[in-house]
Amino acid sequence: MNSNTSECLFCGIACKEISADIIYETDEVIAFNDIDPKAPIHCLIIPKKHISTINDIEKGNSAIVGLLYEAAAIISKELNVADDGYRVVMNCNKDAGQTVFHIHLHLLAGRKLIWPPG
Ligand code: AMP
Ligand code: ZN
Repeated sequence: MNSNTSECLFCGIACKEISADIIYETDEVIAFNDIDPKAPIHCLIIPKKHISTINDIEKGNSAIVGLLYEAAAIISKELNVADDGYRVVMNCNKDAGQTVFHIHLHLLAGRKLIWPPG
């Protein structure tokens, strides 16, 4: 599913119909603080265009993934965690615990993050 949908929470945030604590925005990407943070810094970086899961990434839309990582690099510097470190995670489907079906890169920082994750 690749078209923006009125039922999608993150499409609603991307088009500003649903409010969020936005920390970064370009024409293609928007990032906002997670409503239920799992670390002192926990934001979500999403494409403005709807892509449901990693499984829907293909040649025609895969360039956006690089832009999500570019945003992570910029945001981590702005928040002064680039040197100490941070983790980016994208969950896919039920075994990974994906709950919002519009791809999003979690950026977690501000504490020691255990590895491997649960
Ligand atoms: P995932 O479980 O990987 O699909 O991640 C979804 C994330 O979205 C969770 O960390 C939620 O806390 C977060 N979330 C859900 N609703 C909102 C919202 N309205 N604003 C910000 N973050 C949200
Ligand atoms: Zn969406």
